[in-house]
Amino acid sequence: MIAPPPPLTALKEGRWFKLICGASYQHLPAIRSLALAYALAGADCIDIAADPSVLAAVQAALTVADRLAPEFFIPSPQQPRYHRPWVMVSLNDGEDPHFRKAEFDPAHCPADCPRPCEAICPAEAIALDGVIGSRCYGCGRCFPVCPLQLITPRAFSTSPAGVAAQLLPQVDAVELHTQVGHGDAFARLWQSIRPHLHGLKLLAISCPSAPGAVAYLWDLYRLMGPLPIPLIWQADGRPMSGDIGAGTTHAALRYGQELLAAGPPGFVQLAGGTNHHTALKLRQADWAISLGSSPYSPRDRDRPAPPTPHFGGVAYGSYARRCLAPTLAQLTAIALASEGKAEPPLEQIPDLLYAAVHVARGLVSPLKGLEPRIKAGSAPAPLQSVASRAPTLTGGPPGPLSDRFE
Ligand code: SF4
Ligand code: SF4
Repeated sequence: MIAPPPPLTALKEGRWFKLICGASYQHLPAIRSLALAYALAGADCIDIAADPSVLAAVQAALTVADRLAPEFFIPSPQQPRYHRPWVMVSLNDGEDPHFRKAEFDPAHCPADCPRPCEAICPAEAIALDGVIGSRCYGCGRCFPVCPLQLITPRAFSTSPAGVAAQLLPQVDAVELHTQVGHGDAFARLWQSIRPHLHGLKLLAISCPSAPGAVAYLWDLYRLMGPLPIPLIWQADGRPMSGDIGAGTTHAALRYGQELLAAGPPGFVQLAGGTNHHTALKLRQADWAISLGSSPYSPRDRDRPAPPTPHFGGVAYGSYARRCLAPTLAQLTAIALASEGKAEPPLEQIPDLLYAAVHVARGLVSPLKGLEPRIKAGSAPAPLQSVASRAPTLTGGPPGPLSDRFE
């Protein structure tokens, strides 16, 4: 019997870890570094913008990760071997906060403005001459803080048919972002995607929490009909908010529970507000690390959904980026100090890469079941061995390690 691919096994076991780079995030050096560090930390999937440049950056990072895995990947009982994460691209069926950029004309900014927009931006995407488009991922936090209301959203659009033909043959999975009420638009998007399904390993549908969401997802399930590949429902609790505070995870948990209880067949994966608190909450509720699943089966098409015993896993976006912000800032500082040269690839600075992988493992490991409390009173040896090789990062990861491994 052929064993299922490791990312699919992780989904079935409730240990799937997806890194969300961002559906409109295009800062290539940062994306490359994030992909490399989280791949070596054990991620199962990397979700990116449907942009050929972004895909090329991630593929380059994963080629490096394959080469460095013998040195950097730390085996565990749950994940005894390194595996290359699947690459997923995100598409949308209409207006969606994940697919937008902020913009404003800096010529209209008063000289004495204290620049609250710049202070609040989690992506360092606001400069003196306006928004740096590649860095903006559309979180929307800058919109309300401008006293003159100069900042407006601009839709970030892709052509589904063009993207499908060009990019889907090169990736493992696709995620379709939709919202309650987008049924007709989703149907049109689906017509572009359906012919490419047989070349993919996984389909994900992402929908934010809203009244009527469960019934809407059932409609999509019936529209899509029998699928040749597994299906994930991404419970997008509070989109792009995981770095704001620990409590943001509760919206995703509540929504995910709702989908587990009454949603259509498929794996349920949390997103939108997920952070270091998420795995802790899952563990407390005894939801995460138990075997069993409800993968899509064509036989289920006309039946009520069977009870799904647990979540398939968790996706991390803004919080995963924030964890590695000190690493990304150090790479930028190196570039600035070298008189305008490009940022060096992360692997060219091994101490920084060790530190980044260590921090990334702080987010991946609790989901994979590697909590220190398994060995009461001490950190697990593999993490300790990496930590001993890692330099101290300026600023450090958000929250103490004890908090993230609690
Ligand atoms: S705060 Fe969010 S929306 Fe505004 S520029 Fe930064 S990333 Fe873009
Ligand atoms: S807060 Fe508004 S006025 Fe001030 S710098 Fe930002 S965009 Fe300009």
